[in-house]
Amino acid sequence: MKQALLIILALAVQFFGTAGYLFSKQRPNIVFIFSDDHSFEAVSAYGGRLKDVAPTPHLDRIAKEGIRFDNCFVTNALCGPSRAVILTGKHSHLNGFMENEHVFNGDQQTFPKLLQKGGYQTAVIGKWHLGSDPQGFDLWNVLPGQGTYYAPDFRTPKGLVPGTPGEYVTEAVVNKSIEWLKEGRDKKKPFMLMVQHKAPHRFWLPPVHLLEEYTSKVYPEPKNLFDDYKGRGTPAQTQDMTLKVTMDLALDNKMVPFRQDRMNASQRKQWNNVYDRIRAKVLRKRPQGDDLVRWKYQRYMADYLACIRSLDDSVGTMLNYLDKSGLAKDTVVIYASDQGFFLGEHGWFDKRFMYEESFKTPLLVRWPGVTKPGTVNKQMVSNLDFAQTFLDLAGIALPADMQGKSLKPLLEGNNPKDWRDSVYYHYYCFPEYHAVRRHDGVRNSRYKLIHFYDINEWELFDLEKDPKEMKSVHDDPKYAATLKHMKGELSQLRKQYEVPPAPKLRKGETLFPPWPEFGTFEVGLGNKGWISLFDGKSLKGWRQPFASKPGEPISQIAEPKGIKVVDGEIHISPDPQVFYLHTREFTDFILELEARMPKKNFDSGVGFRCVLPKGKNLPKGYQSEISDIRNGGIFDIGVGWMNPPEEEKKINDFVNRTGTFLRPGQWNQIRVICKGSRIRTWVNGQLCSDIEDAKHKSGVIGLQHNSKEGVYRFRNLRIRELKP
Ligand code: CA
Repeated sequence: MKQALLIILALAVQFFGTAGYLFSKQRPNIVFIFSDDHSFEAVSAYGGRLKDVAPTPHLDRIAKEGIRFDNCFVTNALCGPSRAVILTGKHSHLNGFMENEHVFNGDQQTFPKLLQKGGYQTAVIGKWHLGSDPQGFDLWNVLPGQGTYYAPDFRTPKGLVPGTPGEYVTEAVVNKSIEWLKEGRDKKKPFMLMVQHKAPHRFWLPPVHLLEEYTSKVYPEPKNLFDDYKGRGTPAQTQDMTLKVTMDLALDNKMVPFRQDRMNASQRKQWNNVYDRIRAKVLRKRPQGDDLVRWKYQRYMADYLACIRSLDDSVGTMLNYLDKSGLAKDTVVIYASDQGFFLGEHGWFDKRFMYEESFKTPLLVRWPGVTKPGTVNKQMVSNLDFAQTFLDLAGIALPADMQGKSLKPLLEGNNPKDWRDSVYYHYYCFPEYHAVRRHDGVRNSRYKLIHFYDINEWELFDLEKDPKEMKSVHDDPKYAATLKHMKGELSQLRKQYEVPPAPKLRKGETLFPPWPEFGTFEVGLGNKGWISLFDGKSLKGWRQPFASKPGEPISQIAEPKGIKVVDGEIHISPDPQVFYLHTREFTDFILELEARMPKKNFDSGVGFRCVLPKGKNLPKGYQSEISDIRNGGIFDIGVGWMNPPEEEKKINDFVNRTGTFLRPGQWNQIRVICKGSRIRTWVNGQLCSDIEDAKHKSGVIGLQHNSKEGVYRFRNLRIRELKP
């Protein structure tokens, strides 16, 4: 019986395969060009504020010769989850990939497998980002993880192919794609090619040939760049994704010679020519407050939009190839991003929120001979629909368990009466980068209802009156009926999509709040979970650096020498110029304190995870030290202690180029997060280092004074342990 079934199945596959071959003339090829974090604001076909300063003529050509969807939404605005939704045609809770750290179960049903079975040649080239190996592809050639902009490595079924020096990722992805079209595929079969770009994902590293042009433009600001978050709830007020605080000068704004190790010598030279000039200029001016935000915005747009320009050029390369090869007339070209992105709107970058800028993705489709050129469609569509659309284009039966709708009728110029009125959204990642609360919600053509269920806060927006979502009308009695309707819609969609009950806040989860503003030490959400390392009155908990007699255990400070309490501060005099250690050991933690050094070039700092060897006096091996030991130095990443000697040059280089974030003669706010082997350090709100060290797993906190002069002052020392 089982054998008979297998034979029938085999025959069915064979028949279907043959049928696919016979009908391949009628079945279009599909080129799916997919990017990462591309806001519709940065596609000039959408007519946004950046259309003149950073046009995208090749993407616009797809819209002009085909259709532009103005209301394409994603179900979960995050890289990996969006990809999993597209492959499966199912919401995150059903395909199992809800957060970027998950691994995609590639054994489940996906559209590439069904296309392949249905006689299509399939290939995916570029960013994959789903952990497991791609399945259902005749060829896969993907970036490992996030990939790199310069000299990108690729991962294939045969293993890792190391990057080619000089190569730029966006060009590499399109060149490899065209190579497959030319030589890699079985030309008797129709094909589905997924061209998946890394660009314009953070950290934005444009190709060097565009640097001069894009860094010399001036980009219009969004009207709500200086949003004060009044009129919305806790999540908008406590996120960690502002240009003001989160976007860091060092990494995002290239105030360090950042990630140049994959550039070749000539690229590095061109890069530094441009960025050294920018750095020198800003270090002279040192903008503060709103001026600094404006400066960051211009820097951000220059890098982001140059990445987009390169992407648009690569789209041009692909469209030209399709024209030249004669494939264009039989090929549907689709352009989309995995989700949108904030380009300074609400003062933010990144995505995650159900607000329009991240929730919406560009979607442009050209289907020669079928879609009327220049069509604009306003229906509510979604990345949930892509899988069924691809299958429908290929004439393959749509599986009943996929949750989207084929867009084929819309591409053909029909507007079905029973099209959906609303879309469902669900973001799951908290706590996580950028501290956006988990939420789900519903949007129809006019209203949007969002539920931040961990804290039971709601927001309702009237998008007709408030398209920028500046004021929730959830509590406005005039909207009571609308609220009721939208709540009903939300529970109906939850039921329809089989959404399980909202998960409860995981045990021990707390929000790690950002500093509310650059230059302010006070931390947003109270003191829960913090241990004070200094009570402001005594040196309880601190011990002296040396044993009173050799061989004796080091004890708590009884008679302070060189260390004393003055007006709620710890003062350390230059003698004896060593460590004072806190008695408690810590493994994973957030450490916050304020430090004030009397002058520049001050060789003293804060050590953490310091280990005290038995019978010896001085601490041995500590992971990081925040000090200002060089003229214009920023901090010292454990030079000579943890980093191998060759790092010294890099650190010196870094220090010389960037200047310091430590301000002599003023209080400096220092925050350190040690988690596992990863250590991040912020000084005055700027992320200054992000390093890995697996050697020192735990230890005590130390205050160190190596300078020969001056008093080193500390206050507000506190620590919060992070439990695994
Ligand atoms: Ca993304």
